Amino acid sequence: MSALSDLNKEISLCRKCEIARSRNKTVPGEGAENAEIMFIGEAPGYHEDQLGRPFVGPAGQFLDELLASINLSRKTVYIANVIKCRPPNNRDPLPVEISNCRPWLDKQIQLINPKIIVTLGRYSMAMYFPGKSVSKIHGTAQSVNGVTCFAMYHPAAALHQGSLRQEIINDIKKLPGILEKAGQVSSAETKPPAQPEPKQMNLF
Ligand code: URA
Repeated sequence: MSALSDLNKEISLCRKCEIARSRNKTVPGEGAENAEIMFIGEAPGYHEDQLGRPFVGPAGQFLDELLASINLSRKTVYIANVIKCRPPNNRDPLPVEISNCRPWLDKQIQLINPKIIVTLGRYSMAMYFPGKSVSKIHGTAQSVNGVTCFAMYHPAAALHQGSLRQEIINDIKKLPGILEKAGQVSSAETKPPAQPEPKQMNLF
C-alpha cells in the first residue's frame, strides 16, 4: 500500500461533515501517484458517488476527450476534487465542507507533488487564485508557493453553455507548453509545502 492509498482509505472513513451521512461512496481521486499534472474539480456528482471515482459522468467524458487531445489519459495525471463527498442534489459545496476537506486535498498534493495544478471551475480556482473570476483568468497560469497553477473552466460548463466548449479546448492545448515551463521554473526554485498564504507570481 502506498502513502496515497493509505490516505485515500482514511478519507473513506471521514465523517467530519453532515454530507458523509448521505454519500454512497467517498471519491478521493485517482490517477498516477507521481503525476506531473493534477486536476482539481469541485465535488462528486451522482455517478461519482455511485462508483467512488472522479469525473465518470458526462463532464468526465469531456475531460477524457480534453486529456486525449493533448495525448494524456487518466492514468498519466491525477484527478481529485475540492470535496470528497457528493453534496445532496448536487448543490454547491458549503464553505465548512471545503475547509473540512482541505487537509485531505493538501495531503494529496503533498504526496503527489505535481508540477502543475489545474483548477477546474471556480471552487478549486478560489483556492489558488483568490478573488479572481474564472471568466477572466481561464487559460492562464501563476506560481503559487512554487507550484504552477493553471485555471480552467469546469468541463461541465461546456455542457451547460455550448459556447464555452471551444474555449476549454483551446485552454487545455496550452498545458503541454506550461508543463515544459513549469519544469524549468521548478528546477530553479525549491518547493515549500502547498498550503498557507498563497504567494503569487504571474507566469504566463
Ligand atoms: N464534477 C466535479 O467537479 N467532479 C467530479 O468528480 C464530477 C463532476
